[in-house]
Amino acid sequence: MSNRTQIAIIGAGPGGYPAAFLAADLGLEVALIDPEDYPGGVCLYRGCIPSKALLHTAKVIAEANHFKELGVTFSKPKIDLDKLRGWKNDVVQKLVGGLGVLSKQRKINYIQGRAAFLDSKTLEIDKSDGTKDTLEFEKAVIATGSRPTEIPSFPNDSPHLLNSTSALDLPDIPKTMLVVGGGYIGLELGTVYAALGTKVSVVEMTDGLMQGADRDLVRVLQKSSEKIFETTMLNTKVVDMKETKSGIRVKFEGKDLEDEEVQYDKVLVSVGRSPNSEELGLENTDVEVNEKGFINIDEQRETTDRNIFAIGDVAGEPMLAHKATHEGRMVAEVLAGRNVAFDPAAIPAVVFTDPEIAWCGLTETQARVNKTNYKVARFPWGASGRATTLDRNDGVTKLIIDPKTDRVLGMGIVGTGAGELIAEGVLAIEMGALASDLELTIHAHPTLSETVMESAEVYYGLSTHMYKPKRDR
Ligand code: FAD
Repeated sequence: MSNRTQIAIIGAGPGGYPAAFLAADLGLEVALIDPEDYPGGVCLYRGCIPSKALLHTAKVIAEANHFKELGVTFSKPKIDLDKLRGWKNDVVQKLVGGLGVLSKQRKINYIQGRAAFLDSKTLEIDKSDGTKDTLEFEKAVIATGSRPTEIPSFPNDSPHLLNSTSALDLPDIPKTMLVVGGGYIGLELGTVYAALGTKVSVVEMTDGLMQGADRDLVRVLQKSSEKIFETTMLNTKVVDMKETKSGIRVKFEGKDLEDEEVQYDKVLVSVGRSPNSEELGLENTDVEVNEKGFINIDEQRETTDRNIFAIGDVAGEPMLAHKATHEGRMVAEVLAGRNVAFDPAAIPAVVFTDPEIAWCGLTETQARVNKTNYKVARFPWGASGRATTLDRNDGVTKLIIDPKTDRVLGMGIVGTGAGELIAEGVLAIEMGALASDLELTIHAHPTLSETVMESAEVYYGLSTHMYKPKRDR
């Protein structure tokens, strides 16, 4: 391997590999360093992709079950866990293998190993073949991502205690499981295990699931969760966990508890993610981190060390793959000498539960906190033809609008397929669209996308399928 490179990118997740690919496409010499065989990062190996493959299975099982009510009965599914796990692993291998080919085609120097800074111009690489090497660079990009946060007082080495990584390995289908943490990762993985036959309970310390999302959207999910999960304990804290022969005994503290101590076969801890900024030798550079360990960056993702940039989960919230990718591509342009900055008008967030929740731009919760003047227009899916054909009227599409200009500031959706629908909101916000632009755009019938158009019609009091008093356009 050449011991010098123009650009060194540490970490080949959805931040690092798009940065490397675009930097190479723009004519730069790139080394990409990661411990895995191929690029992909957490998202492909142990995050977005395997979880969505399993959630697809969960959705099919739930839909087959639901059809009983519509007059079509399927027999109870038989789960061949080895085959299911194998299929999920194949999905991952197909995608990471493709990235390996794309990396080679671009003549990227892919180095399998772990890197740490010796100084602001040199990396030491602990290679996967057991050898060590140094690599000098002109500019480096840290894209080392994040890992599940552990709670030190929990029995973290117990086989009964899972995190998102071990839960995705599908070691078995336990009879009972507790999910600690009502955020998106816990709810998504809880949904998978519940579909496979586990009795899943969820415990959340705050007063609601999915903090950060608007409560009217979460209420719909919370209602459907009653059918999916055995119990959802809100305002409840796990104060102790003890390993037993067959599982983990959990002690709770909170109001309205049925039992203060319960034994579960498995406990899945999903209480957040911590940035991978330690063990990078940052003390040998001028890179600074904040009190939570996230690397401090500016709008071009330059750190406090002029030679070093940081992107993705390690550089702060929102910890989402598409945010990492956008930053990665932007940094590649900066490295190629272009004057660009990270300045999105909207970053979508999707929770792939049943129903899905998706939002982008301004939420009502933020609008209230910031005292932003806004109007909200809601279109309930009870009035949607497409939602009715799917027997999925449990949805709402809403727009958050600036009443002075009619500009779309935010969009929130709860309902089946919300994750696909939110793209229209992101584009509307990025393009500075007015509610009237959405209202006057023809949407195909019968589709769920019509609910976006009709929520704009609701804003003007002119919805075909909902009567509301008029407002001037
Ligand atoms: P990562 O994907 O974490 O990749 C970092 C890479 O750097 C890793 O391969 C790591 O091994 C490597 N690395 C670390 N240290 C070093 C070192 N010293 N030297 C070399 N390499 C190193 N996001 C979404 O947007 N949508 C979803 O649906 C979604 N679902 C998720 C589901 C689960 C279960 C989990 C856990 C996460 C999910 N996420 C999802 C979050 C998403 O995975 C992350 O936001 C995303 O992977 C961050 O990308 P990244 O490039 O910053 O880092």
